[in-house]
Amino acid sequence: MTEAKTKKIDNAEEISEELLEKEIEKELIAETREQRIEREREADKEREITSWVPKTKLGKEVKDKKIKNIDEILDSGRKILEEQIVDSLLGVKSDLISIGQSKGKFGGGKRRAWRQTQRKTQEGNIPTFSTLAVVGDENGHIGIGMGKAKETLPARDKAIRQAKLGVIKIRRGCSSFDCACTELHSVPFKVEGKSGSVRVILIPAPQGTGLVVANELKKILKLAGIKDVYSKTFGKQRTTFNLAKACVEALKKTNKGGIK
Ligand SMILES: [Zn+2]
Repeated sequence: MTEAKTKKIDNAEEISEELLEKEIEKELIAETREQRIEREREADKEREITSWVPKTKLGKEVKDKKIKNIDEILDSGRKILEEQIVDSLLGVKSDLISIGQSKGKFGGGKRRAWRQTQRKTQEGNIPTFSTLAVVGDENGHIGIGMGKAKETLPARDKAIRQAKLGVIKIRRGCSSFDCACTELHSVPFKVEGKSGSVRVILIPAPQGTGLVVANELKKILKLAGIKDVYSKTFGKQRTTFNLAKACVEALKKTNKGGIK
């Protein structure tokens, strides 16, 4: 009787184990599906880089692996004219800064990535979309670029291309007075950037502070690889374009020296 009972329990365990295995298997399949998409994306990128025929001298040097680090190019001050140079040397991610606003009653004005403008002609209104893209490797490299086109996607591609071509190197550090680590999690000192009427000041912050900045600037700082920073902004901040540009200008200054 007890033997039978044990057998039954054993059986139950076996069944649940079987179920568990099935669950794990399912999860594995789900995971590989996601990984597959990622792999395909990687492969696409790889293929694009392999099939790339460089047109500039700098491009050829990168393709021939004579240049292995983007910093070599940025330090020498040579101009990047092909986005594939950045693609092959840096693993960049991109994001769009909301510079436009949707139309509508009751407030409207919601932030959108696309700014829509119109040109009037005899045939009617011709819309143009513009957008501001930011690219970065989350490790000290950042670029922003503007793109305009008759449709949204080409505008985005143009903006991302511009952002890649304009990539800059920034210095990071930790010099907040109440943080004594050696990690590169903030700006090395207080820096200021200007664009139009907008002024952005970035101030070193201790670990765990997070990004104390306007939402749209978080995207830029995150892609630059900065985790903690305080900020002050002056001027008409609703002009997000100037705000973003001023932020990048401030980051650029990390290569020079701080302000008091
Ligand atoms: Zn620190």
